[in-house]
Amino acid sequence: MRFPLTAEEEAFSRQVRQFCADRLPSRLAEKVAAGVDLDRDDYVGWQQTLADGGLLCGAWPRGHGGKGWTPLQSYLFDEECSLAGAPWLLPFGVNYVGPVIFTFGSEEQVARYLPGILDATTFWCQGYSEPEAGSDLASLKTRAVRDGDHYVVNGAKIWTTMAHWADRMFCLVRTAADGKPQAGISFLLIDMKAPGVTVRPIVSMEGRHHLNEVVFEEVRVPVADRVGEENAGWAIAKFLLGNERLLVAEIGKQKRTLRLIRQSLEFLADGGVRLAGAAWARERLAELDARLIALEWTALRTVRMAEIAAPAPAAVSMLKIRGSELEQALTEFAFEVLGPAGLRYDPLLGLDDAEPVAVRRNGAVARYLWARCVTIYGGSNEVQRNIIARSLLAV
Ligand SMILES: Cc1cc2nc3c(=O)[nH]c(=O)nc-3n(C[C@H](O)[C@H](O)[C@H](O)COP(=O)(O)OP(=O)(O)OC[C@H]3O[C@@H](n4cnc5c(N)ncnc54)[C@H](O)[C@@H]3O)c2cc1C
Repeated sequence: MRFPLTAEEEAFSRQVRQFCADRLPSRLAEKVAAGVDLDRDDYVGWQQTLADGGLLCGAWPRGHGGKGWTPLQSYLFDEECSLAGAPWLLPFGVNYVGPVIFTFGSEEQVARYLPGILDATTFWCQGYSEPEAGSDLASLKTRAVRDGDHYVVNGAKIWTTMAHWADRMFCLVRTAADGKPQAGISFLLIDMKAPGVTVRPIVSMEGRHHLNEVVFEEVRVPVADRVGEENAGWAIAKFLLGNERLLVAEIGKQKRTLRLIRQSLEFLADGGVRLAGAAWARERLAELDARLIALEWTALRTVRMAEIAAPAPAAVSMLKIRGSELEQALTEFAFEVLGPAGLRYDPLLGLDDAEPVAVRRNGAVARYLWARCVTIYGGSNEVQRNIIARSLLAV
């Protein structure tokens, strides 16, 4: 049974599906399906194609170059792109700093920074976490000291996704040390090419380089690149974290993984018996399928309600917990079905055309290893459980 959509919503889904069928390069979709490590051009090229079709910033208000999509349209857009095999849509410009700039920024900032997000020519990264400030973000220590019409920034950020490709970072800095920690934070837009910015790679468990440490030594940032008032950055930081939350369960991506598992089960055999017919595989597949359907309905109900009022934080936390746990279970099963063959892994292998699509083990292993982190980023699952507990116990 399908979640009820209006005729307009069905038409919208069809339109995005058609766009992907026409414009998503098949080689790129193959790389995504095979779990090949994508490069900067893969991500940016696809974002520019979406921009060209007027779809990249569809959720933005019309007055700022968007189409004023409803939350449900954003959900359907994400689902169709994922099912078509598109790369991850980098959220840093489109979903994070863009809405911050048109909500809190000056007219000059709107004119200067939004065009590069709308046409995907500026690559942004997110400088929130620090070595001693992750879940407890308000304890961040990177300092920005005023010097005339500049701030001088010193400190370090960590786990900065794709900072090595970024042109700019939106960054939380400490501009006051007294009072509540939240009250001394400002929101700066930093040029990644400025003197004193050093980006150091962090290679993650699956052997690839997406993450970085970013060090600031006497980096001069114009005061004109502060968004909002000095020491008022915490409210902006929280506004930004609230964006995209509704898509947190990544249903389209989960459906795509399940589809890949079904293909593997059809293809693989054990002792002459196709795995698709093996009781253990069918049971596990049915369980994961049921979890995905339940999550999809819960996500869609939450998104539908978001058209009327912002969803309760606990509802979004539940989506994050269930979505990330399901992603780990799916990627684990995709890896398991490959048996010992799954152990051969080369993180930097490109597309291996000789390997049957249904059993591209490299992708299954990469996805399995990568998915260990999904219960950490975007607010760890322990922290999400605290949010749910607080709302239930009203403490
Ligand atoms: C793949 C990946 C990409 C990331 N990309 C970015 C990025 O681009 N930009 C950026 O700024 N950050 C990024 N992060 C950082 C991410 O936001 C932090 O990892 C996350 O906030 C957790 O912080 P931490 O790693 O410092 O862990 P900690 O906060 O030190 O937590 C360690 C453990 O303690 C638990 N814990 C902490 N506090 C509590 C509590 N109050 N109650 C119960 N348990 C608790 C946590 O759940 C966790 O298990 C990324 C992280 C990952 C893994």
